[in-house]
Amino acid sequence: LDTQYSLMVHGGAGALDHLKSAKDQVRYLESIRVILEYGRDILSRCGSALEAVESCASLLEDEPLFNAGCGSVLNEDGKVEMDAAIMDGRDLSAGSVAGVHNIANPILLARLVMARSEHVMLIGEGAMRFAEHCGMERVPDQYFFTEERIKQFNEAHAKGDIVLDHDDVVAHFEDGQKYGTIGAIARDVYGNLAAATSTGGIVNKRMGRVGDSPIIGAGVFADNETCAVSATGYGEDFLRTVLSKTVADVIEFQSYNADRAARHGIDYLVRKVKGRGGIIVIDQAGNCAGRFTTKKMIHGWIENGGDTVCTF
Ligand code: ASP
Repeated sequence: LDTQYSLMVHGGAGALDHLKSAKDQVRYLESIRVILEYGRDILSRCGSALEAVESCASLLEDEPLFNAGCGSVLNEDGKVEMDAAIMDGRDLSAGSVAGVHNIANPILLARLVMARSEHVMLIGEGAMRFAEHCGMERVPDQYFFTEERIKQFNEAHAKGDIVLDHDDVVAHFEDGQKYGTIGAIARDVYGNLAAATSTGGIVNKRMGRVGDSPIIGAGVFADNETCAVSATGYGEDFLRTVLSKTVADVIEFQSYNADRAARHGIDYLVRKVKGRGGIIVIDQAGNCAGRFTTKKMIHGWIENGGDTVCTF
């Protein structure tokens, strides 16, 4: 038993220009810190990486500051449609859901898909039926709405009304956009890796749009032999570059550590598709790395049992 554990979480990437005051910044960082400490508690008591990422992701979903669970952004119809996935690096088992609604913690549903269905991914009404089958409670629409999300949606929707073409919609999500997806990755004291990502997607997205977050290898990946990864940003960029698996591949084939692999992944994302967003990575040795193309990414880590660090 190697007593070192590592944990990383993120709360999204973007310009974060709305976080100008020190008070606002402290609110975000403090929330990340508390969640990391919660995860530390699990991992230091020899809890599994899977349990740690599931718990941290569900706490991040509960926090209205972040775009996942409560506080998710709204789609073109002013509705919340969420995506989430979880992966266990021990045996590559994975569970994922897309286009779910009225579920407080989509990450818990993803875990149930992994544990109690013979499938990896369930979407829309099928995922909702499975949630019901598992006895998961439905929460009312109001649970998800925050004032900021409604304002953000109204602004995006007003612009979306004038722009019909998809490219213009894409242009609208340029630098000022905040990608608030959440993610958690961990290495436990047994050397097992796990990853979880959960999101409300992007503001004013088309109904039925699925981003990278619930796609294994794009927004989330974990393999004990390489690393655990969670991504945030403009999902289409991460889908096309299969970014999380690309990061794992350079660890497998070139023996990179987390930092070098994360840098390689972000370089590739920018070079190939001018991608926008960021990733967090923990390698099999417990090294933590976070890289992003945006001005900021809210994230924090505990590397090999060390201090808790939270930063933008
Ligand atoms: N990656 C997410 C998506 O495209 C959004 C985000 O990271 O905020 O759905």
